[in-house]
Amino acid sequence: MFNLVLFGPPGSGKGTQAQKLIEKYKLVHLSTGDLLRNEIANQTPLGLEAKKIMDSGQLVPDEVVIGIINNCLEKNTGATGFLFDGFPRTLKQAEALDKLLVEKATGINLVLALEVNENELVRRLLERGKTSGRSDDTSEEVIRKRFQVYSNDTAPVAAYYKEQGKFKPIFGEGSIDEIFDALCKEIDSATAKQ
Ligand code: ADP
Repeated sequence: MFNLVLFGPPGSGKGTQAQKLIEKYKLVHLSTGDLLRNEIANQTPLGLEAKKIMDSGQLVPDEVVIGIINNCLEKNTGATGFLFDGFPRTLKQAEALDKLLVEKATGINLVLALEVNENELVRRLLERGKTSGRSDDTSEEVIRKRFQVYSNDTAPVAAYYKEQGKFKPIFGEGSIDEIFDALCKEIDSATAKQ
């Protein structure tokens, strides 16, 4: 199995690159943001609860997202690998993910982190907010809140994977294809070593 974490702040291009990567490497895409928005669209009790939190730029509780990921792993037992997008976002989630994967006799192979400067991120998110219908992308205040949550809660996840020698930063500005090529190079070199 090959399990990849695509890491980076809101607006860094994880969703765009994930689409291309899952196609090329035949991975199952697990985006907690998409899974939560799906719950909202279906107006499930979980979705109704999550919407309030997401609209304020905060994180949904760890137990909730870990439960969602666990369900998805169970549903995809035949997968040749997973691409985790927007997860793990806290140290607790990273530790829980490691545990779940160990139970399946596998683990995270590589963490690719898209790096983009903050002004460019705000520009991209406000632009996306015009068409995406995502309420968390329309207010600059909520966007800034998400960056704050990212540096407080999510940045420590980078250190966790650095210690394990799995973390590779990738410059996330330039054309979509240039960034995709840089990501593929890292994946190809990691799989060659397997
Ligand atoms: P972005 O990376 O642009 O913030 P996402 O779609 O990944 O977009 O996430 C949108 C929102 O969903 C987050 O601000 C958060 O409220 C919630 N969310 C997504 N993934 C997680 C997670 N792993 N843990 C907690 N909350 C999450």
